[in-house]
Amino acid sequence: YRSQNQHRGNSMGINLANDDALRDLAAAMNSAGAGSWTASPLVAGTQPAGEKIAVTNPADRRETVGHWQASTSADVERALANAVAAQPGWDATPASSRAALLEHAADLLEARMPAYMAMCTKEAGKTLADGIAEVREAVDFLRYYALQAREHFAPIALPGPTGESNQLQLAGRGVFACISPWNFPLAIFLGQIAAALAAGNTVIAKPAEQTNLIGFAAVKLMHDAGIPQDVLQYLPGDGATVGAALTRDPRVAGVCFTGSTETARLINRALASREAGPIATLIAETGGQNAMIADSSSLPEQVVKDALGSAFTSAGQRCSAARVLLVQDDIADKVIGMLAGAMAELKVGDPGLPSTDVGPVIDTEAKCVLDEHAAKMQGSAKFIARATLGEGTQHGTFFAPTAWELKSIAELDREKFGPALHVVRWKADELDALIDTINATGYGLTLGIHSRIDATIDRIVARAKVGNIYVNRNQIGAVVGVQPFGGQGLSGTGPKAGGPHYLPRFATEKTVTVNT
Ligand code: GLU
Repeated sequence: YRSQNQHRGNSMGINLANDDALRDLAAAMNSAGAGSWTASPLVAGTQPAGEKIAVTNPADRRETVGHWQASTSADVERALANAVAAQPGWDATPASSRAALLEHAADLLEARMPAYMAMCTKEAGKTLADGIAEVREAVDFLRYYALQAREHFAPIALPGPTGESNQLQLAGRGVFACISPWNFPLAIFLGQIAAALAAGNTVIAKPAEQTNLIGFAAVKLMHDAGIPQDVLQYLPGDGATVGAALTRDPRVAGVCFTGSTETARLINRALASREAGPIATLIAETGGQNAMIADSSSLPEQVVKDALGSAFTSAGQRCSAARVLLVQDDIADKVIGMLAGAMAELKVGDPGLPSTDVGPVIDTEAKCVLDEHAAKMQGSAKFIARATLGEGTQHGTFFAPTAWELKSIAELDREKFGPALHVVRWKADELDALIDTINATGYGLTLGIHSRIDATIDRIVARAKVGNIYVNRNQIGAVVGVQPFGGQGLSGTGPKAGGPHYLPRFATEKTVTVNT
C-alpha cells in the first residue's frame, strides 16, 4: 500500500535499560500530579454538575489518584446538538487540514509521554513497558489515520467512456459515538476518535468508566492540538446512562465500539430498534478465545517464551492474549515443565517499578471473576503453576498468573480476561479437528503458531477463521500500519484498526458522473 511506503515511521519509545532515561522518566512521572487528576464532561456550553467520584489505583486501593464527574442527561442532549451543528463545517474542512491537526496531536502526545504514562500506571495499573507501548500506539494511530485521510479523502477519478467523467468522493457520515475500553485507555480511545475525526465526523467519546481520567486528558490534548470543542466532546458516565442514550439516538450515525461481545450485541440491538434516522453503522472489536498451537517441530524454549509473553503481558488484559496453549504430545511434558519454571520467575507487583513483569488487574470485579475461575479450575483441571505475588500486592487487585492443563479447549466457556493460561495436549492426527474446535468457539481474533514445517503452518493458516495470525513469535502487540488488527465472528465486525480499510468505513461514498 502506498500509505505504508509513505509512512513516516512508528513512534519511538523510551529505553528502560538506560539508567539516565529511566531516572528522567521517573522524575517526570512523579511530577504528573497524581492525586489531583480530574475529569468532567467536555461539552461546549455546559457546566459540570454531577457528584465527584474518587478513582483509586488498582495496584494500591488506598491511593486516590483523582476524581471524575459523571455526565447528566442534559450534557448528553447538549453534546448531541453541538455535534450535529458542528459536523457540516468539520466535514467541509479539507481532509489535509483535519490530518494536520491529528499530526499536531501526535507530536504533543509524544512530547508529553511521561505524563500520560503516569496516568496509565496509576489509573489503569499498566507497567512502564505497557505505558510506553500505549502512548506509542496512540501516537501511531493519530499519524496513520491522518495519512489515510489525505489518501482516501481526495476525490478519486475513475475511468469511464469518452464524454463522461466519474469521480468517487468520501465524506463523513455525521456524528460518531466512540465507546472504548479500559485496557487501552489511550491507544484504542484515541485510535477510534482519530479515525472518526479524520473521516469528517464529529465525535462524542465515552471512555470505559475505569479510565475516565485518561480519557479526559486525551480529549484535552486533542483540543490543545486545535480540534474544536464541539467537534470532539467527552461524556464520561456509565453504559446504561451515556452509552444507551447515544446508541438509541437517531442523530448518531455510527458507533465505534471496543469491548465485550455481549455489549456489542446490546449496541447492535439498540441501533437496530431505532425507528427513525439513518441505518447506523457499527464498527465493533470484541473478545477472543485465542489459541497458540505448537507442534513437535517447534522449539520448546521459544514456545514457552512466547506463550508467557502472549498470556501474561498486560496481566493478560488484551483481547489478543493467548488463553490456550495447544501443545503436541511429544513435546508437551517438556514445554509444561519449562512453563512452570518460567512462571516461577515472573515478578508480579508494583507496575511503576521497571523490574515488574505483571501488574494488577483493573478492578475488584475483574479479580473476582478470575478468582472464581481459579476455584473452578481447581476442581476440574490439572494445576501446572502459579506465579508468586510480590510485596505490597495485598492492597491492590492482583491475580497471580496461573496455568492449568485441560483435556479440551471446549472445556472453557467464555473468555477470562486476565493472566490465566490453559494448556491442552494434542496428537499428530488431531490437527484439523483441533482447528475446527478453535473455530467452533465462534471467536476469531488471534492465533499463534509454532512450527518449523511450512506445510503445517500453511494448513493451519488456511483452516483457521481468525483475524490475526502470528507464526513463531508472540501473538500480541499488533503494530499500527504493519499488523492491521481485528477479528471475525464473535470477535468483531471489522474493518481492522490500523489497516488501510479502516477509515472508509467511517465515511459515506458519493459517485459523481458528469456527461461532459
Ligand atoms: N491491539 C492489541 C494487541 O494487538 C489488542 C487490543 C485489545 O486488547 O483490544 O495486543
